[in-house]
Amino acid sequence: MLSIVSTPIGNLEDITLRAKRTLTECAAIACEDTRVTGNLLKQLEMPKKELISLHGYADDARVDGVLDRLKRGEHIALVSDAGTPGISDPGYALVSRAREAGVKIEAIPGPSAFLTALSVSGLPINAFLYIGFLPLKKGRKTLLASFATEERTIVFYESVHRIEKTLHELAEALSSQPDRPVVIARELTKMHEEVGQTSVSALPEIAKSIMKKGEFVVVIGAL
Ligand code: SAM
Repeated sequence: MLSIVSTPIGNLEDITLRAKRTLTECAAIACEDTRVTGNLLKQLEMPKKELISLHGYADDARVDGVLDRLKRGEHIALVSDAGTPGISDPGYALVSRAREAGVKIEAIPGPSAFLTALSVSGLPINAFLYIGFLPLKKGRKTLLASFATEERTIVFYESVHRIEKTLHELAEALSSQPDRPVVIARELTKMHEEVGQTSVSALPEIAKSIMKKGEFVVVIGAL
């Protein structure tokens, strides 16, 4: 069986009982980074476990190795560095191939940064568009321009290195909607968590003054 296990996005207490049990009972854990997962087990005072480094992308030969073990009936857990595997993280190739092969797959749900940000945003979240990370080059301008006509709430991830540039570009792409609300969430569930609501017209100012540290989720209100 393949267990898709969500792990905390910052606050260790966000591990679920089921995630702990699964990570204890499985034969091995396939992880994005064995150091990060080894550290998580240690911090949670959980037993050591065989850790398989798995990039999880389609060209990763190690996916074959994990698949062979699953087909032999072993119980393998899949985790990423934080949050839900496969959400802007590796995992898709293994899950899709395991499903093709008829392997039993279970989800151990838990945190995800975009859901956490949406839930505290105060913006309409009955329907939303999750983008993941914006493309760096190809298609970036077109995607940002399309936000002006997207009626649903939009949520995307951004790294500390690009947040300033992205907020400027967002202000430009949505300049015809100066009052459209934007929520910027930083370091969710962590000690320095910050969630601030602003509007498109204030983004250039925010971009300059925003704390350039940590991890970000940006939410743009529905039209
Ligand atoms: N699999 C993860 C999930 O389920 O949310 C996402 C992994 S993605 C590689 C990492 C990005 O998620 C970060 O660059 C940031 O944009 C966002 N993120 C992760 N943890 C966060 C946190 N605690 N606060 C704000 N954003 C976070």
